Amino acid sequence: MPLFLEIVYFAAAILFIVGLKQMSSPVTARRGIVWAGLGMVVAVLVTAVGLWPANFVLMTLALLIGGAIAWSTSRVVPMTAMPQMVALYNGMGGGSAACIAALELLHPEAEHGLTVLALAVLGGLIGTVSFSGSLVAFAKLQGWLDRSFVFPLQQLVNFGLFTLTFLAGIGLLVYPQSEALLLIFFLLALAYGVMMTLPIGGADMPVVISLYNALTGLAVGFEGFVLDNAAMIIAGTVVGAAGSLLTQLMARAMNRSLGNVLFSAFGAGPQEEGAAGEEGEMKEIGPVDAAAMLAYAADVIVIPGYGMAVGQAQHKVWELTELLEAAGVKVRFAIHPVAGRMPGHMNVLLAEAGVPYDKIYDLEDINADLPHTDVALVIGANDVVNPAARTERASPIYGMPILDADRARNCIVIKRGRGKGFSGIENGLFYADNTRLLFGDGQQAVARLIQEVKRF
Ligand code: NAP
Repeated sequence: MPLFLEIVYFAAAILFIVGLKQMSSPVTARRGIVWAGLGMVVAVLVTAVGLWPANFVLMTLALLIGGAIAWSTSRVVPMTAMPQMVALYNGMGGGSAACIAALELLHPEAEHGLTVLALAVLGGLIGTVSFSGSLVAFAKLQGWLDRSFVFPLQQLVNFGLFTLTFLAGIGLLVYPQSEALLLIFFLLALAYGVMMTLPIGGADMPVVISLYNALTGLAVGFEGFVLDNAAMIIAGTVVGAAGSLLTQLMARAMNRSLGNVLFSAFGAGPQEEGAAGEEGEMKEIGPVDAAAMLAYAADVIVIPGYGMAVGQAQHKVWELTELLEAAGVKVRFAIHPVAGRMPGHMNVLLAEAGVPYDKIYDLEDINADLPHTDVALVIGANDVVNPAARTERASPIYGMPILDADRARNCIVIKRGRGKGFSGIENGLFYADNTRLLFGDGQQAVARLIQEVKRF
């Protein structure tokens, strides 16, 4: 590869790393996306220029069509559908890595030895599994696929499928240019990705998507070795490492092992009732009383969840916060690591509404304060404040750390009705003596609170 190209690829890789580093803080995250995006533009353009004039028309067409689809979909996809969009694009990355592997295996470069072929096979296997698995994950999150698909001896069948795929991969090392073997290898890998993802429940999908993201990174890194491309090697490795860490963090935040997420079929569909069923009644509160409770509180901790995202209530929530602060109430925000439907979901929404970062606390930094807090204001959160995670061994969320809203002096929960959370179980918090339910869509309920607080 010409030195000029190598230098530019290396520069692109540095842009990726700088971008990723900046994404680790909400203050610099937007800038990070621009830096990393710039790295990608540089890498794509220099590839097209480096190959000039070969396949110029095809490449330009691909860039225009791909760019147009990405540009238009990213503008219309709502925040709540972001996980499936990530799954889709991630799958495309895995598929692209697999295509590179297929080309290398069909027409290996003369100077490439067994190691490069082995890397191509490994990248092809991982990329293909990530491609088909991500597509299934997309279909599940989009509601196109039944969430549960479990049958007897499933693990054994999957293990058998993986072994066959692996053997076909080894066969390719012995007979590299065999088209029939190549076809079998990729078909098996595609089937394995589908079969591995089908039994995993909808609630676990974001963790699985993060895992596939890591796998795609790894596949791209392997194929980078095949193409001798520094940008692909570095970017693939960084994505692989970051994705693996994120997967671990998400699994840990749900108090689950990755093995449990992948093989237990938890969250395969709504569970029946809470382990014990809940007794008592939900006690309703009107906006006037709720506003009084908030306005006369010394401190309030707001706990947002998926419902705040659905209701797009974040701007109203910040307006309410400013009003309460003007009335002398101390207001803070508590964020559970898996609140919403993707990592950092609540942080992104609150940042969009202009909530200063120093008012936003992670679970471990604020939980100890909840028992001394006058009001915990839960907006569209359910699973992340479900005390069953602490007390009910039979509960599927048992052991998951939760925000202790039930331990606050008073708790106001805003939700539309009796809907359950993503895990599909009842929540004892809603029946507790110190909890009052303010029923309504998140945005409208907070708007009514604002009206009433203004009267105090
Ligand atoms: P949740 O448990 O899904 O509950 C959301 C609640 O919001 C529901 O009870 C619903 O009740 C209410 N709601 C829905 N639309 C609303 C609206 N427009 N206005 C007001 N309320 C509304 O949410 P969560 O507490 O944030 O928990 C997240 C769940 O997703 C956890 O189970 C977590 O494990 C899972 N998950 C998250 C991630 C991640 O990365 N964040 C990853 C994997 C899994 P009504 O229908 O009665 O309104």
